[in-house]
Amino acid sequence: MRKSEIVIVGDTPGVEWRVPVLRFVGKDPHAPKVYMQAALHASELPGVVALHYAVPMLEEAERRGEILGDITVVPKANPIGAAQYLYDELQGRFEQGSRVNFNRDFPLVPLEECAGLIDNPSSRLATENLKRNLLSMAVQADLVLDLHCDDESVIYSYLHELYWPSSMDLAESFGLGAVLLSDGSSAAFEDAVTYAWQHGALGNRKNWHDGRLSLTMEFRGLRDVFPEIAKRDAEGILSFLKRRGVVVGTPSRNEPFTGAATGLDYVQMVNSPVFGALLFEKDVGEWVKIGERLATVAPMPGDPSKDIVITAPCDGYIVTRVQHRFVRATDNLMKIASRELSHAARKPGGGLEV
Ligand SMILES: [Zn+2]
Repeated sequence: MRKSEIVIVGDTPGVEWRVPVLRFVGKDPHAPKVYMQAALHASELPGVVALHYAVPMLEEAERRGEILGDITVVPKANPIGAAQYLYDELQGRFEQGSRVNFNRDFPLVPLEECAGLIDNPSSRLATENLKRNLLSMAVQADLVLDLHCDDESVIYSYLHELYWPSSMDLAESFGLGAVLLSDGSSAAFEDAVTYAWQHGALGNRKNWHDGRLSLTMEFRGLRDVFPEIAKRDAEGILSFLKRRGVVVGTPSRNEPFTGAATGLDYVQMVNSPVFGALLFEKDVGEWVKIGERLATVAPMPGDPSKDIVITAPCDGYIVTRVQHRFVRATDNLMKIASRELSHAARKPGGGLEV
């Protein structure tokens, strides 16, 4: 394994950011190339600790001569966000100066133009240079895993709809609870990678997704950072790489997919109609029927007659839950993967909150 660092010059004198990059060189130039990063949203650590355990496994595989495809790992992708503390809380999701989500506004550039992404860094701010450096590494790979997490959630993945069901092996390797299928129209990292591939040389466009996969993995919730879970996720990474012929060996994980595979337009957003204290009655990973109780919101403490009961708007599978227990009117409480077309308006950029 080779270690290097990307240096991002800060926006003010005397400041610079360093992004560690770990590289394994594969023995077979025809084997798929892999790029993995974690904590683009700097406070999301389940992917970081999964890579913490996966890297030594890859080093062991390297010692045994079992790495076939090149593997690039960026275990903590966002030092700018990791330094953003406000009132004692890490604010790793949005860049404080611009309020732009660190996982939005990636440049949408055809593959042939990606080599120029990091030219002239002095003409851009640090966050833009960080995004361009990450993207320029990822587009060179065939398999791109951007590791995130949700508030509280099952393990699930966002994928361009054209990668499914050919990436069923991903679900089997990680034991995914759900797969949410997008049309790739946001400027999130996974979509910017897909955009580059999709807009490659004319002759290759038709089959641009053959052998390729770019995804956002939601490694459960923010607080799901435990050694046993992280080791299991690392086994999931190794299992997936073995299935795709990047690493030699038999996958240790093989879990038939029984969860929900749903287009984003079929994800029902359950929102609160009032301010109040939130009391959940259903957990993530549960299947529910329309009309079933999901939660109670208590807007008037001491007066249960004012309680608002939140019920399921559809049959479906609870993918996520909000972590806070105080809510305002319109705040999202849950996302439910259903078979019915959602009436929720998606945000400009096409995605749900990733
Ligand atoms: Zn995230």
